[in-house]
Amino acid sequence: MARKIMYAISNVEGDSKKKIYCENLEKNEYEAKYKGYLTCIKGCQARIKFTQRKNDIKFFSTWNKEGNLHEKSCPYHVDYKGKMGRKKLNAYYQSIELSEEIILRRLKRKMEGLLKQYSDEDIIDPPNGSMEVDVIGEDEVAVFEGDENGKKSECLPRIYYEDAEYISTDDIGCRKSVYGFISNVQLEEDKKKGKYAYFNLATKHSTVNIAFPEAFYSNELSSGVQEFEIYVSKVKELVQKHPNKIMVIAYGEITRKKKDKNGVNVSVISPNRILVDNKTYKQLVYR
Ligand SMILES: [Zn+2]
Repeated sequence: MARKIMYAISNVEGDSKKKIYCENLEKNEYEAKYKGYLTCIKGCQARIKFTQRKNDIKFFSTWNKEGNLHEKSCPYHVDYKGKMGRKKLNAYYQSIELSEEIILRRLKRKMEGLLKQYSDEDIIDPPNGSMEVDVIGEDEVAVFEGDENGKKSECLPRIYYEDAEYISTDDIGCRKSVYGFISNVQLEEDKKKGKYAYFNLATKHSTVNIAFPEAFYSNELSSGVQEFEIYVSKVKELVQKHPNKIMVIAYGEITRKKKDKNGVNVSVISPNRILVDNKTYKQLVYR
C-alpha cells in the first residue's frame, strides 16, 4: 500500500486545523514551522512527517513509532501495511452492518449539517475533515437508535464521512460516506448492454467518482433500469444548470478505477445510500 500520504492537518497555533497538500510545502518551511505539529488527515492522533527528496519528490508519512496511533478506521494504521494488512482493513469495514433505513437517515442528517456549514460561508471551500465534522454535530462515536417502539435502544456502529478532496487510492477497501460537488454525469453501456453510471466529483488532486454498478437498480429499493436512467438524467440536468454546485453524499466501498490507476470509485449498491442536492433517489425521479 501507499505510504506516501498526500495531506496532513496543521496544528500550529493560528492555523485552525488547516489542510496541507504535500506538494505545496517546502523543506525549510516544514523544519521551521510544522515539524511535530502535523497530524493525520483522517482525524487521528498520529503525527505526520514530511520528506522532500533531492529529486524534489515530496510526501508525508507517519511519524516514527506512531503507526498505532491511527484509528482502526484509518487506512494508515500500522496493522494495514502490505497485502495481509489490506485484508484486515477490508474485514474491519465489512463488519459494519447497518440497515438501509439507518444508512439513509444518517446520510440525511449529515447532509443537513454540511449544507448549513456551506451556507454559513460564502466561499465554497472544503469544510473540516471527517472526525471534526462529526464532533461539531451529528454522529457520535457510538450512536443509539431506538427500535420502532422507541423502547429498546441499541448501540450501532458509526459511519465514517469524508470530503472527496481527501479520498485517494489509499482509501481502497474502506467503506465510507464521501461527499462533494458533482462536476459531470455519465451514463454508459457495457458490452452486454448493461447500463452503468458515474458522477465525477470536483476535486483538485485525485479522480473520485460515485459509481453505480448494476446492483444499484437490481434490488427491491429500485424499480429497475428505466427508473435508474430517469434518475441519472435528472441529476445530469441539475448539474448542467449548476456545475460544481450540486452536493452529493454517497455511502459505498472505495474501489480502484479500471481506466485510471490514480482514481477511485465510491461504489453505491442501493438507492438508500445516496443523496443528491439533499434529495433521495425517489424524490429526484418523481419530482
Ligand atoms: Zn490516521
